[in-house]
Amino acid sequence: MITLFTILALLLVVVLFIKANKPSKQINLKIIKVESLRGLSKLHEDNSKAIPAHWPRLTEIGNEEPLCPYCGYRFESMPQRKSKCPSCNNYFRSRKRPLDQKKVLLKEEDLEQLCIEWIVFEGEYEGYLKRKKEFEDERHRISASRGGGKVSDADVHWGLWNKGLLESAALWNWGEYAQIKQRMANQLKKEGKLNYALNMYLEAFYWEINGPVNKQGYLDLESDPAFKPKELGIPIPALTRNIHRLAGKLNIEDQELQKLFIKQAATIHSNYKLPLLPEDAWLCVIEAINEMQELMARLKKKKA
Ligand SMILES: [Zn+2]
Repeated sequence: MITLFTILALLLVVVLFIKANKPSKQINLKIIKVESLRGLSKLHEDNSKAIPAHWPRLTEIGNEEPLCPYCGYRFESMPQRKSKCPSCNNYFRSRKRPLDQKKVLLKEEDLEQLCIEWIVFEGEYEGYLKRKKEFEDERHRISASRGGGKVSDADVHWGLWNKGLLESAALWNWGEYAQIKQRMANQLKKEGKLNYALNMYLEAFYWEINGPVNKQGYLDLESDPAFKPKELGIPIPALTRNIHRLAGKLNIEDQELQKLFIKQAATIHSNYKLPLLPEDAWLCVIEAINEMQELMARLKKKKA
């Protein structure tokens, strides 16, 4: 049985994958986007022309009006984020829908359908189906290797990520490789294994700050290197935020953090010959954290 969690996690992976690897141009995709942005009224017809017949349709999902999707309670203005209805106490979501780019209010259980509609809108439905199948195949494979029984979504993710690391390393797809490390770190954080998560985030930071490129097995490194180190500043906000927060939670001071980082980075540096020296990369971590703190302080001041 596929749980909602599996599907949402899969969708997230798909969306991240799409973002990392923009697909080649698709004409039907362009048509939908242009039409949608113009706010044409006959979108149903236009979409049904552009989207392959066997894909799900885009629908008028959600409430355009500021009405609670559970009980119909009317808000004074359109809620802009996830909120709790004061009348029925249900949490609902505020999202844009692809059909006409309108902000709508949705039930939690409608998120899955909305995600699928966005995948259809992006022209990525086939890829989504393929990954969904890969996910279930991996689940069966693990189950068989254990002599049957249930396999958790997390175990399937770990199985696929480990396979993904091997595949991306073989093809010199270091951008993909770094992203898988980030997903692993996110999962460790979710599982409450904060020390492991922090180490994995530090490792991912080292990969990312080196500017990893997806070489797709094409190894003409002279004209197109496999790594293009990033500029200073906050080049990787999500990683910087996670490192900063986890170090805080675990009461790890800068000096200790530096040791952890250098240890992770030194192993990778000697195994994979990344261009930035671990000591130089550490300066990037510190600079990113400092800049982020300054930015947050400025925002706080502005709010006050
Ligand atoms: Zn309500």
